[in-house]
Amino acid sequence: MISQQTIQQILSRIDIVEIVGGFVRLKKRGVNYLGLCPFHNEKTPSFTVSPTKEIYKCFGCGKSGNSISFLMEHEKYSYVEALRWLAEKYNVQIEETEVSPEVKAQQLTADSLYIINSFARKYFSERLFNSDEGRDIGLSYLKERGFREEIIEKFQLGYCLQERDAFSKEAIQSQYNLELLVKTGLTVLRDERPVDNYRGRIIFPIHNQSGKILGFGARIIGKNDKAPKYINTPENEIYVKSKILYGSYFARQAIDKNDECLLVEGYTDVISLHQAGIENVVASGGTSLTPDQLRLIKKYTNNLTILYDGDAAGVKAAMRGLDLALEESLNVQLVLFPDKEDPDSYVNKVGPTRFREFVDKHKKDFVLFQLEVLLQESGNDSAKKAAAVNTIAETIAKINKPEDFSRRQDYIRQTSEILKIDEGGFINLVNKFVREKISKQESGKGFDFTPPSPDPQLETPAADDDVLTLLKTDELHERAIVRCLIEFGLKDWNENQRVADYILEEFIDQQFIEDGTLSSLVEVYKEWYKKGFEPTEKNFLYSEHRQLSLAVVSLLDFPYELSHRWKETYEIIVPSKEDNYQKEIESTSIYLKIRKIKKMIEENQKDLNKPDSPIDYKIAIETHQALKQMEIELLRAAGTVIFK
Ligand code: ZN
Repeated sequence: MISQQTIQQILSRIDIVEIVGGFVRLKKRGVNYLGLCPFHNEKTPSFTVSPTKEIYKCFGCGKSGNSISFLMEHEKYSYVEALRWLAEKYNVQIEETEVSPEVKAQQLTADSLYIINSFARKYFSERLFNSDEGRDIGLSYLKERGFREEIIEKFQLGYCLQERDAFSKEAIQSQYNLELLVKTGLTVLRDERPVDNYRGRIIFPIHNQSGKILGFGARIIGKNDKAPKYINTPENEIYVKSKILYGSYFARQAIDKNDECLLVEGYTDVISLHQAGIENVVASGGTSLTPDQLRLIKKYTNNLTILYDGDAAGVKAAMRGLDLALEESLNVQLVLFPDKEDPDSYVNKVGPTRFREFVDKHKKDFVLFQLEVLLQESGNDSAKKAAAVNTIAETIAKINKPEDFSRRQDYIRQTSEILKIDEGGFINLVNKFVREKISKQESGKGFDFTPPSPDPQLETPAADDDVLTLLKTDELHERAIVRCLIEFGLKDWNENQRVADYILEEFIDQQFIEDGTLSSLVEVYKEWYKKGFEPTEKNFLYSEHRQLSLAVVSLLDFPYELSHRWKETYEIIVPSKEDNYQKEIESTSIYLKIRKIKKMIEENQKDLNKPDSPIDYKIAIETHQALKQMEIELLRAAGTVIFK
């Protein structure tokens, strides 16, 4: 443990600009520093570092934190690793604190469990080979399944006698502590008497990386519907199921050499493949992969090939947990076996050479495979197809380490080709999931931060740019109100009205929306809504009309751009969080109203310039004054609504 004093020393020397600047090119912008975000793809920088607050925040994806969390996030360090890295950088001598009595006791227990397991392992092997019962029942069963003696010895398989307490008796006679025996799961207490837990079963020792025994799997022989097929060691100080990959001790070198790890489901799959000379193989123990298991694999290779039975359950099992593998930057491939075959049976049937050929020929990229399965499942159902697009986008969004960005681009390109959808729209969809994920991670961290000050060069645009900006701003506000309609339409606006009622009445019926695509979106919404159907963004996203769906995708991609533009153009900030939807609608509606008034003033100006009669002139003047007054009130309202 690093002492508190050392931590303080490290923290006092941290310079966030220097640390982040070591990984990201930063430019000074006012009091802050700006660069391209290392956590999402972007062309214009929105990743901001504040030296005074000692924090960073990306206005594109929402990622934020301090120097240590940056190192943890970017370099995948643990907290302690990040501290050690910083200590080295700043030449701080690390002072370790003494190990606490609890930790010491824990280490002692762990050591004892290893010793008991080692004793048990030898005991069970001995019974398998050297007792009549072991040979007649255990060994003959294993041989029947095709295992040769040398492989049984290599994996240190064993047999537990059917007698009630043969093992426990011997262990207690050898001075092993009963409480610890129970902890290993080898012994259970029945009526306070020790009983062997694995009676009449084949024993598979489970090794850690260095060959020590963490625990056991015990398989029943023959069929017994009442008893479970396998019993495993209960979780204890050394047996942590989520961190165990069966066979990793025997597979390490082969994985390294082949730069590939084969993953199978069961112990016997691992042993059969080893016997056939295919040694770069481990088993997950049937459950879906955990982050710890993936990290274990990643220590040796980036290439994970999963071998699964070809039935539907196998496919589903294969999918589960694999998004995690993408997050860990692993290249995941899947191989499905022909019906009713598993790696164990298949290698026994066709032999190692044809087995290898089969694996090489049937490897499928996980992401593209998932896409294939989803598309097959959805058939001609366009809603299902749209859901499939979303699922794939979500999966691709998981590939999010800076070094994997080009891989992600490849997936985006290939997927859009297969789906025949617009690549730009698909990128937006993927980015949406990236942001959602990050904002989920970041929510609760909550700190206040000022967005980057606008680029000085942008502050004085040429006349043409001015018009362009204004046009874009108009479009942005139209988009904002349509987005609010789609996103929040079914929420309450006031006691009598929903947001949709308000927006449709106030803006749509009065033709505030000029953009073509947006008005057709609104028309669809209105039609649905008036029929009593309650449209949500999903109905649009999943719409079979590609244009409609893409328009909504790009809309939902939008809050950040909006507040950014508003800030640049008007020096105001729009709240964009969902709980602020009323404020957002209010401020957007005020803008749209101001725009409408400005247009009316412009129109009126024509009458004012060329009045047909003195009375007309008088009316025009009065109109002008009334409109101006409305404009002032709206601007004032804008002030109270928007400046928060
Ligand atoms: Zn970012």
